Amino acid sequence: DAAFDVEAIRAQFPVLAQAIRGKPLVYLDSAASAQKPEVVIQAVTDCYRHYYSNIHRGVHTLSERSTAAFERARDTVARFLNAPHAHDVIFLRGTTEATNLVAHSFVRPRLHAGDEILVTELEHHSNIVPWQLVAAEKGAKVVAAPISDRGEVDVDAFVACITERTRFIAIAHVSNVLGTLLPVAEIVAAAHARGIPVLVDGAQGVPHLAVDVQALGCDFYCFSSHKVYGPSGVGALYGRRELLAGMPPYQGGGGMIRRVSFKGSTFADAPERFEAGTPDIAGVIGCGAAIEWVEAIGLDVVAAHEHALTEYTMQRLGEVPGVRLIGTAPGKAGVVSFVMDGVHPHDIGTILDGEGVAVRVGHHCAQPLMDRFEVPATARASFGVYNTLADVDALVAAVEKVRHWFG
Ligand code: PMP
Repeated sequence: DAAFDVEAIRAQFPVLAQAIRGKPLVYLDSAASAQKPEVVIQAVTDCYRHYYSNIHRGVHTLSERSTAAFERARDTVARFLNAPHAHDVIFLRGTTEATNLVAHSFVRPRLHAGDEILVTELEHHSNIVPWQLVAAEKGAKVVAAPISDRGEVDVDAFVACITERTRFIAIAHVSNVLGTLLPVAEIVAAAHARGIPVLVDGAQGVPHLAVDVQALGCDFYCFSSHKVYGPSGVGALYGRRELLAGMPPYQGGGGMIRRVSFKGSTFADAPERFEAGTPDIAGVIGCGAAIEWVEAIGLDVVAAHEHALTEYTMQRLGEVPGVRLIGTAPGKAGVVSFVMDGVHPHDIGTILDGEGVAVRVGHHCAQPLMDRFEVPATARASFGVYNTLADVDALVAAVEKVRHWFG
């Protein structure tokens, strides 16, 4: 894309302009956490320097300014996800807190002994363990739909796992290990035809694709700010209004009540009902700034750029003898996992770091997926909008070095 100038993007990321072990930093770990552009850093420091105060409570000027900036971030997230209304967006600590909230406040009261929660084999632990916790308490179980050898979720195979006892479905939008896109809209349609609500873990969706929760039709969608160029410790949950309205609070505290007395308390409506305590105010404002920044580039432009990087990486790495790619579905988003014959992924990661190349090695919080591919761990290169074809060349050169050293 002629209008897309990756060097101009890179120049906005102060952290990228450094050497690691004497080599230019090649940051290929954005699926774990993305770096932050100057506008986001500025939005956070501006808040603390110029108008920081607690929100929603004060009548003084700074509190009004902080509250307005905080609520503007909510409007931004709602627009970004195409949520019907800003009140459908709850600010939380991230994807993990969102799945725990839904497990506790939505799924737990509906779950009985023998019931099932359906996920897939490729889920992140934060989209498995919260369901296991409530399932264990209720004598229910978590069932995993299979994925193909290429790492895809087939709609028919998924639907075949839905039973009379399926009470809830929780699936990723994009796999954090394989980069696979899941057929979310089709799964939601099949689930709704059977009256089953669906949560989408959008932690890896939001950074790589334009998301429209109304088009997807899902009941819940959650993501983490830190993966979409915003601060860490902040994220959001979108929920369908009718469902949020019927859900009990997840945590009790200040800011989530209507009236408290020792005879009992009543609770505010969503989103406040689910936002107990003082939030990460500057972090939420930074999250809004990050989303505005990425929207200005355009998610379609980001997706096309990352798609080109991914295809090039798959092709180049695939040519290195002894490299096996894990997850070979077409149309992947920004993530490439691989293993090498006779080399532990940890050694790959260490040698690559010596070349200035930052990748993730390990199970990526997806141990059932490692079991599925019968590997203990993988090395994972993942892209952000700031990565270049030269970054991929550096990765491949470093992988060649690993091969050379391990002979
Ligand atoms: N789901 C997926 C697919 C992820 O990639 C991650 C982060 N690695 C999470 C959930 C959890 O996100 P967080 O740690 O920000 O809560």
